[in-house]
Amino acid sequence: MALTLQERIAGVSERVQQACKVSGRNPSDVHVIAVTKYVSLNMVASVLEASMEHIGESRWQDAESKWKALGDQGTWHFIGHLQTNKVRDVIGKFQYIHSLDRLSLAQELQRKAKAAGIDVNVFLQVNISGEDTKYGLSPEEVPDFLRSIADLDHVKVIGLMTMAPYEENPELTRPVFRGLRELRDQLNQQALTGEPITELSMGMSNDFEVAIEEGSTWVRLGTVLVGHEEGS
Ligand SMILES: *Cc1c(COP(=O)(O)O)cnc(C)c1O
Repeated sequence: MALTLQERIAGVSERVQQACKVSGRNPSDVHVIAVTKYVSLNMVASVLEASMEHIGESRWQDAESKWKALGDQGTWHFIGHLQTNKVRDVIGKFQYIHSLDRLSLAQELQRKAKAAGIDVNVFLQVNISGEDTKYGLSPEEVPDFLRSIADLDHVKVIGLMTMAPYEENPELTRPVFRGLRELRDQLNQQALTGEPITELSMGMSNDFEVAIEEGSTWVRLGTVLVGHEEGS
């Protein structure tokens, strides 16, 4: 029999705690984002009713009806590739953008955030694995990128984000997550941002425990948490 949402939430919470335990981390430093891109509005409502605060969506076209109904509840994260011409749709609605990967996008976020009188929290997406199919800056590009956006005062870089390749054995993703953490620590030693970069957005259904062991502070969980509604 399929598990209920409550059972899935409890199961994920237990696995997060166990991963924290084996790595000596505090579970309150790990936030779970419920990725609802595969599921309907009703499921988003149930997730929020279950007191989960963070909702993740990867395309505005899929998110729009859910955000219009429920956007005043919870905290919304834009986790997918963001086209520059979609910034106007998401600004002020999604408190966190996980996919900053180019200067033109940073400039557009600055323009629209400034016009709205708000700051936008961003993660730089970094392609640690080096796969051509993945978006993101290469690790070598990140220091100059941070310098080039330093004067965009409405764009707050709070963290780094990466996606690991899918691996049957999640242990094989460890070097990718470790690489993102080491990059963060190196950037902070160089003090390239006003405030240190604290956050790491890494870990999905298949590999979140390894990501937590390597320092993730935001795991983005779809399938394992809210399931996957076919054809939606
Ligand atoms: C879809 C998606 C997720 C969630 O994927 P699951 O494997 O279902 O947990 C996480 N992050 C990003 C960027 C995604 O696009």
